[in-house]
Amino acid sequence: MKKVMLMAIAIVFCTASVFAAHSTNPVTDTTKTKKVKPVAKVQYTCTMHPEVLSDKPGKCPKCGMTLVKKDPAKKKTSTMKM
Ligand SMILES: [Zn+2]
Repeated sequence: MKKVMLMAIAIVFCTASVFAAHSTNPVTDTTKTKKVKPVAKVQYTCTMHPEVLSDKPGKCPKCGMTLVKKDPAKKKTSTMKM
């Protein structure tokens, strides 16, 4: 009779552990998404040739001048302040 009790206990323990393992199933990590920073695209342009655009700093292929960073926040204003 004792063996039966042990068996029953073992079975209960097994099923309980299995159930616990299932119930505590780790929720799929949807919150672990990597935060992607919006990379501001920096472009380099020639001060003399605005049509020249480059992703990297370098020199203008037309005049050889050092390319300067183009500020995307700046509005296209051709007015010159004197
Ligand atoms: Zn140029």
